[in-house]
Amino acid sequence: MRTKDDQWSITDSVGRTALLVALGRALETRSDSALISDPFAAQFVADSGETDLAPEHIEALLDADDDPTLTRAIDLLRNMMAARTQRIDAALTTANAHGCLQVAILASGLDARAYRLPWRAGTTVFEIDQPAVLDFKNRTLERLDATTEATRVTVACDLREDWLSALTGAGFRSDRPTVWLCEGLLPYLTSADQERLLTTIGAAAPADSVLVFDVPRASFDLSRMDFQAQAFGVEIDELMLDVGEFAAQDWLENNGWTTDSDTIGALLTSYGRSSVVFTEPTTDTDPQAAGTVGDAIDLVVAHRR
Ligand code: SAM
Repeated sequence: MRTKDDQWSITDSVGRTALLVALGRALETRSDSALISDPFAAQFVADSGETDLAPEHIEALLDADDDPTLTRAIDLLRNMMAARTQRIDAALTTANAHGCLQVAILASGLDARAYRLPWRAGTTVFEIDQPAVLDFKNRTLERLDATTEATRVTVACDLREDWLSALTGAGFRSDRPTVWLCEGLLPYLTSADQERLLTTIGAAAPADSVLVFDVPRASFDLSRMDFQAQAFGVEIDELMLDVGEFAAQDWLENNGWTTDSDTIGALLTSYGRSSVVFTEPTTDTDPQAAGTVGDAIDLVVAHRR
């Protein structure tokens, strides 16, 4: 049950969704013809102690191939994270090359881009997430002696509160072009909190700033995600709030941003992987009901006018 000021660790509630994303990146990284390489992802999952999410365990289940629901859930997770990560890596690298030397990763979870991407000299990567999530992440990074060309600054804060003051207090400059990332975040906020978040970003984003995020469409059917709960113990439909109610892309167009978007399904096709992100088969005879999850999620890149 979500509450307006709920907190979590990496293994429970919304925190566990960050582990799930890391698992998807780990599975993709370990697969043949991987679209991405994230060597940190498997390390985070291992350090969480959640053995049911260990990539080796999940791969053994895949090899056994005796549970179609599980196979579909794993396939969905791995491919979605591959497409999302690949597209976002490219968007952030391009924005950095074009002059955004501040990178603000909101709800950074176990995102290792501060270490994975080739940042320009002078880049600062700010990461905001809840305190327990950042503590867990930092312990693994310290264990690995991870190093980065960028300056990495973590800000433990709730994104429903006055996070911009905390970010500014940590050295962020709102008069400098910044590339902002909200990956896997908006559905975990209410519509009002989503609008507040975008308003706050807009107030701290001068011209030439870039904002990247993914967002489910109104057509995204949360009830079709039940099989993810069975497979990974994450009750996505209980964690997500107001899905599809706030039209983030339209709002940005009306509030000083120019946007472009692709569905995750279209991105997968462009990366040579088509028709892999199918929803749970339905007995529904309505062909409109048989869409793919990937077609109901947009990846948006917005430029500040
Ligand atoms: N962006 C990361 C990635 O894609 O790897 C993590 C995505 S995970 C699905 C959701 C993340 O949002 C979690 O790390 C969670 O702690 C964070 N989050 C959700 N609501 C938040 C809030 N109100 N304040 C801070 N972090 C939040």
